Parts: sequence; structure tokens; C-alpha cells
Amino acid sequence: MVQRGLLIVLSGPSGVGKGTVRKAIFKEDGVDFRYSISATTRKPRPGEVNGQDYFFVTREEFEDKIQNGDMLEYAEYVNNYYGTPRSFIEETLASGHDVFLEIDVQGALQVKTKMPEGVYIFLTPPDLKNLRSRLVGRGTDSAEVIEKRVAAAKDELKMMINYNYAVENDVVSKAVDRIKAIITAERLRVTRV
Ligand code: 5GP
Repeated sequence: MVQRGLLIVLSGPSGVGKGTVRKAIFKEDGVDFRYSISATTRKPRPGEVNGQDYFFVTREEFEDKIQNGDMLEYAEYVNNYYGTPRSFIEETLASGHDVFLEIDVQGALQVKTKMPEGVYIFLTPPDLKNLRSRLVGRGTDSAEVIEKRVAAAKDELKMMINYNYAVENDVVSKAVDRIKAIITAERLRVTRV
């Protein structure tokens, strides 16, 4: 029998650098887990590719997927839907491959309820001032959206208690090393043998 893959969930406040850390992890040598591409109703940012960064869909298409039970979890965040397609996760884990999700805090909690055996990693910003300046520096959101994201982040920090690990994103390469160490340790757990 094939040993089921490990579910790795990277979450944390918006703007903490989840996307940057995730991309850096996937550039590392020897990384053999599969990335779960989310669906969203948000418009693509410059350089984003459909089917690679996200599946970009309309609200109608997203709501159909919810109705059909195609989403493992979904959240509405700053007026857009974001969600994790269910079938990819189930098939990939069953085939023995590890799956990596990068999703917001609301979504991570939904996944944890359904799949408590996963590894839940919370990425923390060094401080909230830093979070705001990162969002400003990214230059992709209006001042109003940035304030909404910072307010959401303050609430989200309280959610850390629900996770197995907290990783500070002070320096991306250090956060990557910490996450790789967690995954290595989780793969060696005696309970999984
Ligand atoms: P962004 O618009 O910056 O790409 O993403 C906004 C937020 O949505 C980020 O916190 C990101 O991690 C989160 N997100 C991306 N995909 C998903 C998903 O499938 N489900 C949930 N719940 N959140 C997601």
C-alpha cells in the first residue's frame, strides 16, 4: 500500500510574505511536494499566469464550484473569493505525494477541521509596522485596501494558537530553512511509519 502523502499548510496574515516564502521554497533543490493552485475571483496581477499562480475564475464559476462541493475550503477576502480545489488534494495525497497549500487563516482553519493530520505552519511578520510597509512597498493595493489588510492581520495574529508551528519571516531564506526543517522532521515522525 502506498503511504499517504503529507499535507503541509502555510498560512498567516496577508502581506506577511507567504507567497514570497512559498515561491522561494519551490526554487530549492530536492523539493518534491506538489503545490495546490487555488481558484480566485481576483483579477490577475501583472505577470500572474492562469493555471500557474491561480485559476482565475468569475464569481459565477466560483459559486458553482462551491455548490458542487468542489472546494475543500474557501474564504471571501477583501471582496474576492479564494478557494482550494478538493480533487487535486485528495488524489495527490492518496498517490503518496506531499501537498503544499498557501492559504489565508480562515481557509487554514477549515482545512484543519477536515484534515487535522496535516502540518499547520503560521508565518508571522516581525511586527505590524513592517507588514504595512511591505504592503505599501508591493505597490499593488490602494491605501484603503492596505488598511483593511492590516486590520485583518491584527485579528489573524490571534489565530496562531491553532497551528503546530510558528515561523517568523524576518529574512526569507531563514523562514525557508525553518520550514524545510519542520517538513523534514514531520516526515520522520514515528507515527507516520
Ligand atoms: P493575494 O490576493 O495576495 O494573492 O492573496 C490574498 C490572500 O488569500 C493571501 O493571504 C493568500 O494566502 C490567500 N489565499 C490564496 N489562495 C487561497 C485559497 O485557496 N484559500 C484561502 N482561504 N485563501 C487563499
